[in-house]
Amino acid sequence: FKEIPTGFPEPGKTTVYDESETIDLEKAPLNGGFLVKTLVLSIDPYMRGRMRDPTIESYAPPYLIGEPLNNFGVGKVLRSENPAFKAGDHIYGMLPFQEYFIAQNPKEYRLLENKEGLPWSVYVGVCGMPGQTAYYAWKEWSDAKKGEVAFVTAASGPVGATVVQLAKGDGCKVIASAGSDEKVAFVNSLGADVTFNYKTVPTRKVLQKEGPINIYWDNVGGETLEAAIDAAETHSRFIECGMISQYNTQDQYPIKNLIYVVAKQLKIYGFIVFTLHAKYEEQFYKEMPRRVAAGEIKYQEDFTHGLDKVGEAILDVQTGKNKGKKVIIVAND
Ligand code: NDP
Repeated sequence: FKEIPTGFPEPGKTTVYDESETIDLEKAPLNGGFLVKTLVLSIDPYMRGRMRDPTIESYAPPYLIGEPLNNFGVGKVLRSENPAFKAGDHIYGMLPFQEYFIAQNPKEYRLLENKEGLPWSVYVGVCGMPGQTAYYAWKEWSDAKKGEVAFVTAASGPVGATVVQLAKGDGCKVIASAGSDEKVAFVNSLGADVTFNYKTVPTRKVLQKEGPINIYWDNVGGETLEAAIDAAETHSRFIECGMISQYNTQDQYPIKNLIYVVAKQLKIYGFIVFTLHAKYEEQFYKEMPRRVAAGEIKYQEDFTHGLDKVGEAILDVQTGKNKGKKVIIVAND
């Protein structure tokens, strides 16, 4: 991490690729820890929030200038002096953006058994943090009833696409938006009832025709949130998952109709996925890999190969160039 951005992160300026440090894979001392080969790394929208002045408090720690980025990933243990993991094990957790690293604390990682034989990339997408986000919060707050109308934004990404399918599974009519016709076609294939490209069709127009809505899954914030408030039925649930339209700007969009939160008795649930782990994590790992392997839950991935392309991949997710879950493939198994 090289420089705190003010707007969109800039590859080569905000982040740089650095080959100056090496690890001797055979001889590097482990000091009771384990040597890990990084296989896949996740690129997530919230990484932009970690590129901030480190004195500003937030739910995720800031990236530190001069240090490698870190994020969710899957690695393979090559050598171990810790009884928790043995050579050949695959682990999931917060990995540094390095090809290899030595870890000390096994509690920070989860052993992936992967009985289903899924590709490892899936464990940072639909079977990882984004899938958990969708699964936990939908179960916790949607209170979905058959026939209700759910509106899902950024619906082609790993969070949105999973929500669309959970909402359909609960018998909702699903209205879903995405930023290109190609993304819309993918969301259509997930079974959404009404899909549209919000860049060419006004969201308000669609919600007026297909609403009112009972559940709003917000991934984008801004004027879309404003439109959703206007289209909401009394007692609607708003699941405030993300506001990506506001992540790269200093000027927050002023929501003008918040007063309807009172009159419509809206329930607004802002959340951070970690806070729901204790309640849902084990259930998630029992259910999601099995359903994904069975083809019941679909997903789309967008690979970038190599750590030297991380900067571009981060920018792509912020601008919507990614087509599904953005994953950095660092190495094959
Ligand atoms: P995606 O893979 O869907 O990538 C983000 C997408 O956001 C882009 O592809 C783009 O899709 C869309 N987007 C970008 N800019 C804008 C904009 N200005 N207006 C509207 N849409 C925009 O991301 P994820 O599925 O990983 O994450 C989705 C949301 O969930 C994010 O807001 C993220 O921060 C949030 N999140 C929250 C968590 C929590 O704990 N609360 C945990 C994980 C994710 P398009 O082309 O369709 O516009």
